[in-house]
Amino acid sequence: MSESFSQLRLEAVTRRYAGGGESPALSELTLAINQGEFVALLGPSGCGKTTALNCVAGLVPLTSGAIYMDDKRVDTLPTEKRRFGMVFQNYALFPHLTVRRNVGFGPKMRKEPKDEIERQVSAALKLVRLSEYADRFPRELSGGQQQRVAIARAVAMEPSVVLMDEPLSNLDSKLRHEMRGELQELHRRLGLTTLYVTHDQEEALSLADRMVVLRNGRMQQVGPPEELFDHPVNSFVADFLGYRNLLPAQVTVVGDGLLQLTGQGFALSSRTSGEFAPGGDVTVAIRPDDIVVGGVGDTAIDAVIEAVAYLGKQFEAEVEVNGGVRLHLRTDERLELGQRVTLGVDPRRVMVYPGSAPADDESPELASQS
Ligand code: ADP
Ligand code: MG
Repeated sequence: MSESFSQLRLEAVTRRYAGGGESPALSELTLAINQGEFVALLGPSGCGKTTALNCVAGLVPLTSGAIYMDDKRVDTLPTEKRRFGMVFQNYALFPHLTVRRNVGFGPKMRKEPKDEIERQVSAALKLVRLSEYADRFPRELSGGQQQRVAIARAVAMEPSVVLMDEPLSNLDSKLRHEMRGELQELHRRLGLTTLYVTHDQEEALSLADRMVVLRNGRMQQVGPPEELFDHPVNSFVADFLGYRNLLPAQVTVVGDGLLQLTGQGFALSSRTSGEFAPGGDVTVAIRPDDIVVGGVGDTAIDAVIEAVAYLGKQFEAEVEVNGGVRLHLRTDERLELGQRVTLGVDPRRVMVYPGSAPADDESPELASQS
């Protein structure tokens, strides 16, 4: 049986590679994962996701910090003693072993009795619906099936924690969607504590109980998907979560829970709270599907459709605001090239961040931490 515990805790976990330059690949990551929880580590390539996972797995040593399971320190234990299940992007199956022997590898290494291994392997293969493929070799399976074998192998370890590093990123988009559903179902049934790495925000939003966004090795925000999606803490997280419109603007009026803003060719209101003063430079973040054709309240931005694509159900358009910026929007309304439209956004869906720095610059509050 897998060990029971109530929390896996990362405390200021830091990893610096030799020759890795000024800043560590992973910097002081502190995070508590509860038993049964599904936590996704999300961020662009190079932000330190794999490093974080490998630190937890014991595949790379920490430069500083510690990892605990409840009161037991585990970062000082060798990989095999941690009894974590691992699933990698490239499946990492043994090519010369059958599916059955791949899945039975963990229990066999632990020298469990033969009938016990047989039981664990059958249960794991049944779970991923590959019982009929037990005697095939990995090369005789599709990518999706191979990844399911890798998942079965992790599950057969009866692990206390499952670590997955972009397990779906080598699959085509249809299969990726299918497998996402299977992972969801698997997690629902087994309730395995899971730390899941991805650069795909949709995957993280749909699978995770909580998401952690990393940037340059530093945690930006942690919380349930809805919280990050609705209230990204900075323009980097906003950008990463699909707030495609990131616009420089100025605060004109600070009112009772409402900010008035102007930018190049537009005026908007926002319910964002925070310390803003009239005249201050800010960055406004808006999701394409929060822009309403026809206007909202007294927000009316005149624009012309510059490009439009039909997505099967919705229209995606790029518009140019009179004398100003370009916006991306998504709508059910039929739109045509060259059409003049009036646009609005619910003030609750207009995010405002201090400073006019674009998302790829260090924002002031992050720079001060380094
Ligand atoms: P991600 O998985 O988010 O793409 P990684 O954790 O692989 O990011 O990498 C984080 C940073 O650490 C990157 O800048 C990467 O180049 C660097 N890095 C990763 N592995 C090594 C290594 N073995 N040696 C030196 N630098 C590394
Ligand atoms: Mg990686």
